[in-house]
This record gives sequence, structure tokens and C-alpha cells, in this order.
Amino acid sequence: MTTYLGTLMISRFLLLLAIVSFSYGDKLTDIKATDMIHIGVKYDFKPFGFFDKRGRLVGFDIDLARFIASKLGVTPSFKQVTSSSRIPRLLSEDIDIIVASMTHKISRDKEIDFSISYFFDGQSILVRQDEVGTTAKEFANRKVGAIKGSTAGPNFKKLVPESRMVYFSEYPQALRALKRGNIEAITTDFTWCNVQANDSNETLKVVGGLLSYEPYGIGVPQNESKLRDAINFALIELVKEGVYAELYEKWFGKKPKRFPTIWPK
Ligand code: GLU
Repeated sequence: MTTYLGTLMISRFLLLLAIVSFSYGDKLTDIKATDMIHIGVKYDFKPFGFFDKRGRLVGFDIDLARFIASKLGVTPSFKQVTSSSRIPRLLSEDIDIIVASMTHKISRDKEIDFSISYFFDGQSILVRQDEVGTTAKEFANRKVGAIKGSTAGPNFKKLVPESRMVYFSEYPQALRALKRGNIEAITTDFTWCNVQANDSNETLKVVGGLLSYEPYGIGVPQNESKLRDAINFALIELVKEGVYAELYEKWFGKKPKRFPTIWPK
């Protein structure tokens, strides 16, 4: 009887141990076990994540994410995120990481962790070609579009408190409003603004210079140091193997002035 009870208790204990160790397994191990990493990316933020003319999801962030997945030895599964949905979707474990033009801000670090910075931008202003204003201050008391959940709106409001911010859920909506004359400007990172101006047949242009500092980082869940290390090491490999410079030229048409930090061996 005692032996029976003893065996029962030991097997229950082992079962409990298995459950506990499974639920406390780290994210990297889970990703490798399923052979797949779910990556939150933008579908409408050219040249970081967008659909090309043949309907393929492409961009700098997409190539970067593919490189990271290959270094981890798993298949990437891309899921669309917006500026406002990316952090909540990481928190709800709907995605494993975020590679979506996301600035590493200390305030965002309260909820999630970040990789080393992999791209360095600053906020600008996209306007119609006939706009006479050239500085941020000249948009006081005028309608300036920004995207919900992006750094640009609050940054701009701080810089020009009299600006009338108009918030949109997604970038294409804001672009349509600008082209139709419903708003006077859109403020967000320079690289996106510049691509829109180049694609606009000279109907749009970029003004205002660089109004903020926007270093992009890959978002990872809080306290997953093995996953964060693996992503950082992959980014370091990306630079060392010359792929970072290649991708930079492919998507931005110039050589990088600044690279992600490389740690010595
Ligand atoms: N990099 C900025 C941000 O993280 C703007 C681009 C975006 O909306 O993703 O908010």
C-alpha cells in the first residue's frame, strides 16, 4: 500500500515537474521545437515591408527577418502588424518578434525588450509639391497627419504644440488624405516620406529636415534573453557577412553610413 502510494506520489511529482518545465521553457527553445517563427511585419511601409508589383511581400525588414529566421534554423511566418497593434500582439504571444520599422524608445522598453539597433532614421514632414512651409513651426494651426501608435504624432505635438494632429490607423489612409487635400502634411520617419515623394511623380516632397532620432530595433518578449541573444548574434552576422550593406543598397539605393554595433568574440 505504502509502495503504491509512494509510486503514485512520485509519478504525480514527475508530471507536475514536466508541466512546470514545459510552461517555463524559453521562447527560443519553443520556436526551434515548432520549426517556425511568427514575425510581425508591416505590409504598407515601403521600403521596409510592402507588396511589390507582383504581389510579393518584400522590403528591408522582410529580408532582415528572413536572414534571422535562417540563422535560427526555422521557417519565417509573416503576420501583418500596424504601428499600434505590434506591441499588443507581441504581448498576447500572437507573434514571437516584431520587425516593423519600430523605434527603440525607453518608454516602449517598459513592456517589451529590444535587439541592438539595426537602422537609424529621424522624423520628417511629407507635403504636397505646392507647399510653401519648410519648417515644422510653419505647420502651427494646420492639419498634420500621423499614424496611431507611431512616435511621430506625440513628437510633433511636443515640437509644435499648436499643430492640429489628425490620426490615421494606417499609412495608406494618411497618404490618400494628403493627396486629396484633407490634411496639409504627414509626419513620420524620413525614409518612408522620401520613398513616397520619389514615387509621387513630383506631386509630393519632403521638408523639415530631421526632427527626431529614430533608431529601429527588433521587438522581443520581455525577459527572453536566449532569444534576444540569438537575434543580436544574427544581426552581428548580418553585418560581418556583408549582407547588411547589400540589403541597405538594395532597399535604400546607397551605402550605409552607420552599421549596427558589432561585439567582439
Ligand atoms: N519608427 C517610428 C515608430 O516606431 C515610425 C514608423 C512606424 O510607424 O512604424 O513609431
